[in-house]
Amino acid sequence: MTTEPTKAPPLYPKTHLLAASGIAALLSLALLVFPSSDVEAKKTTLSLELESPAEQLTQDQDAADVVQATNEAVQSPFAQIEDATETAPQTAEAAPAAVVEQKKEPNHREVIVSKGDTLSTLFAKVGLPSTAVHEMLASDKQAKQFTQLKHGQKLEFELSSDGQLSSLHSKVSDLETISLNKSAKGYAFKRTTTKPTVRSAYVHGVINSSLSQSAARAGMSHSLTMDMASVFGYDVDFAQDIRQGDEFDVIYEQKVVNGKPVGNGPILSARFTNRGKTYTAVRYTNKQGNSSYYTAEGNSMRKAFIRTPVDFARISSRFSMGRKHPILNKIRAHKGVDYAAPRGTPIKAAGDGKVLLAGRRGGYGNTVIIQHGNTYRTLYGHMQGFAKGVKTGGTVKQGQVIGYIGTTGLSTGPHLHYEFQVNGVHVDPLGQKLPMADPIAKTERARFQQQSQPLMARMDQEKATLLASSKR
Ligand SMILES: [Zn+2]
Repeated sequence: MTTEPTKAPPLYPKTHLLAASGIAALLSLALLVFPSSDVEAKKTTLSLELESPAEQLTQDQDAADVVQATNEAVQSPFAQIEDATETAPQTAEAAPAAVVEQKKEPNHREVIVSKGDTLSTLFAKVGLPSTAVHEMLASDKQAKQFTQLKHGQKLEFELSSDGQLSSLHSKVSDLETISLNKSAKGYAFKRTTTKPTVRSAYVHGVINSSLSQSAARAGMSHSLTMDMASVFGYDVDFAQDIRQGDEFDVIYEQKVVNGKPVGNGPILSARFTNRGKTYTAVRYTNKQGNSSYYTAEGNSMRKAFIRTPVDFARISSRFSMGRKHPILNKIRAHKGVDYAAPRGTPIKAAGDGKVLLAGRRGGYGNTVIIQHGNTYRTLYGHMQGFAKGVKTGGTVKQGQVIGYIGTTGLSTGPHLHYEFQVNGVHVDPLGQKLPMADPIAKTERARFQQQSQPLMARMDQEKATLLASSKR
């Protein structure tokens, strides 16, 4: 790349070794990670089933510590629903054979899409000729949406008394249904979107093994767990500080259709107790309409820098002025910190800044260098690839995903090499005192209190109720 960082001392390529013992850690890390590529996403789905029997035993013993409820007492294993985008596991068991049912009315037919099905085979299963497929596809351009079939999807047919197709409809997601109705002019296509009701829900969990497992058992979706990690990401280092017995309470917006949770909105308030120290966060939308998280006292949860640019990673090498280089086998300074995590794990910008480089850089492989104001600079090496829109000369926001863990350049396994410079001098990012962001404006203090206090009170009350009921 042509854009060289100016005034900085040269950045020396370094390489890093993944300890063999890290493999077990990586397996459990895989449970926590939400890679962006399709290939990686499948890997993650698989690894969700990698819990060892020993771990399960421990969890079952401790299961009584974990309780979950919503304000309408609807239990929700809805992580499953959110994971269903690719493989639709919740309907998969219904799919071994296409079932033609005739329970509602004599002219009603239902068929479940299974492997190898096309619209023609499904039409044949309900006794419709292949000409009916052509007729419906020809009558409305949008009707071809019916050809994008998913394994486990249900198609419902209504036939006329003479056996012709009079209507067809299918639910394509929890929120969307497509239908086709015969009129005098042919078939008319319609897509119906259900608007979910939004309510606030409460969840409480105690960490016994990993955050992701405890959160999942408490009924939290992956995205909600990620949100919680990013709310507390400035204070809690999820890569190295999580301990057994840490606990959390979260009030969040839950989207519901017909009593069934279909997704979640933002976290409204949360508490996280890490090694005996409790952090509280409240979401507040100011008069300009900007939302951010604050402590109960109204200080920003946001710091000038995030403590760890990768959630749920393991530190595999620390900052040091002299260590043996794993490939070169010579003593070399390691002027950064290495975070080992599975390939494809998102890497976040530690702070707002200007992208000095998003490209190849010698032994660093794919590298991003960000300048934060005049004083600070961060470097992210060995990336698998860059996030969309991250370009040399562009800007990034704090917490924005800039790329993904990889092992490009001189590297022995997937990890992030992270460097932090203050006025051109490499410093240990883990040793830095982090500058704080702005607290709630004085003019909005009262409004903030008005919104935050009921949320705090509710977390206290819900937790007390749940703990009391779980002891009974
Ligand atoms: Zn390194």
